[in-house]
Amino acid sequence: MIGLYAGLFCCGIASATADDGASFKTLKLEGNGVRWQAAKGQQRALSYAVVTQDMEFAGARNCGKVTKLDGLLTASGVGAETLRSEIAAAFAMWEAAANIAFHAAESPATADILIGAQLEPEGWAFANVFYDTLSPEPVKPISRALICLNPLKRWKIGFDGDLRTYDLRYTLAHEIGHTIGLDHPSGGGEIMGYRYEEKFRELQPGDISGAVLLYGKRQLDSIAAASDPAHARRPSAARLFAKRWGARAFTARPQ
Ligand SMILES: [Zn+2]
Repeated sequence: MIGLYAGLFCCGIASATADDGASFKTLKLEGNGVRWQAAKGQQRALSYAVVTQDMEFAGARNCGKVTKLDGLLTASGVGAETLRSEIAAAFAMWEAAANIAFHAAESPATADILIGAQLEPEGWAFANVFYDTLSPEPVKPISRALICLNPLKRWKIGFDGDLRTYDLRYTLAHEIGHTIGLDHPSGGGEIMGYRYEEKFRELQPGDISGAVLLYGKRQLDSIAAASDPAHARRPSAARLFAKRWGARAFTARPQ
């Protein structure tokens, strides 16, 4: 039986919080730590998809009603292909950081993580995590997660210093962090920080430490190297992305 519990996460206007030095914080839902389960030492592969029609999620505290992102993209002047690239780049950041992998799902119906536009717009962006409340595991298994963006806000690609318009990749990377079991650290300076800021566009040391705590260090390359030297010479998808997209981290528009 899958419990439908959700945490409330907002990536919006925030007041400054006291910095006690903690650089990451794991998510606690109803007092439970949560993460996607994997066999011991194995990499967990998760699928994601963009919503293609209106969807409702009973029991979701956030993102209970979502729809496709077309309206949001049109209003913000972002192309569908650019969106796909930004989503992939955001997932690739986490894939490069820890022993967890992401790929596009064949259909939203089967995706582990869904991304859509809010049908009842509020804030900027939210995540919702469903987990198995009845699991005997000390850290409960996440069963599905949602990310929803407010289509009434303006969105952009890259940083331009205007903190009222959010960079899609940065926001998605933050919300993905929630969907894998991370919360806001008490201080700033991390992508998981509560406050939207435009000081960095990559995961920070605390973000990486949190992901490694939950999923272990990234191991795909060493496993591949041991079993298949030819495969190991090819750069991974995550590294290709880092190469392709990393250089334009601070440009306002890629074109
Ligand atoms: Zn957040």
